[in-house]
Amino acid sequence: MTTHTSGTADPLETLNAVELRDVRREFGTGAGKVTALDGVTLTFPRGTFTAVMGPSGSGKSTLLQCAAGLDRPTAGSVRLGGTELTTLTERRLTLLRRERIGFVFQAFNLLPSLTTEQNVALPLRLAGRRVPKAQVREALHRVGLGTRTHHRPTELSGGQQQRVALARALITRPEVLFADEPTGALDTRTGKDVLTLLRALTDTEHHTIVMVTHDPLAASYADRVVFLVDGAVNGELTGASAAEIANRMTTLEAAPC
Ligand code: ADP
Ligand code: MG
Repeated sequence: MTTHTSGTADPLETLNAVELRDVRREFGTGAGKVTALDGVTLTFPRGTFTAVMGPSGSGKSTLLQCAAGLDRPTAGSVRLGGTELTTLTERRLTLLRRERIGFVFQAFNLLPSLTTEQNVALPLRLAGRRVPKAQVREALHRVGLGTRTHHRPTELSGGQQQRVALARALITRPEVLFADEPTGALDTRTGKDVLTLLRALTDTEHHTIVMVTHDPLAASYADRVVFLVDGAVNGELTGASAAEIANRMTTLEAAPC
């Protein structure tokens, strides 16, 4: 019999970067209560690229935030590798987010007063680590941004800013990269470049990526598309084309409440 379980992961579980079991997230109380997630069970296998789709308000962002330890579920379990997130103290959760999780947002969220290099180095600085210039350069190189390293965010295009945000998310070599509408603020062409980059991160570096999007074309870059409706999983598609995904979305959005 084991006396503690924190360091020992079930070998099967280690195949999954993230596991959610019966995750519920409620906001508010009484008549104003909103059930954003209504019992979600999902696994994200290591080295795969998953897209999460669903109508507006279906719980996509809440799912991503709970999976990434940015929000706490009302009930259920979220595991990153072998670590249960829901019972961690705030302090340990902050450390875990910093060291084991990468997150990119639609709005890039770069610090305007910092240069590209300084933005990318930030997670390591926050962790109190030394930041070798070569490591920052390498992270920028991986996202196809070798040069504009001394520029500030306002001097960069939207696509370049999202690449900086990606480099910042990847510099700690996180176990999972979460992206909430990463191409939502980009034009189609630039969006495609970012999606191609995400695809390559999974194909060549075996990154685990979970991306929320409302765009079927963006979702078609993923290995698998999970559909959410009213806070619950409503099926998934594997290796689907943009047209197949768009079709499925039309059915979901037409579904009676
Ligand atoms: P999506 O990303 O699919 O559009 P969200 O996860 O943002 O959906 O929201 C799911 C539901 O939860 C919505 O009804 C939304 O209004 C509600 N919700 C999300 N965050 C909060 C919050 N902080 N407080 C209250 N309600 C929230
Ligand atoms: Mg959202």
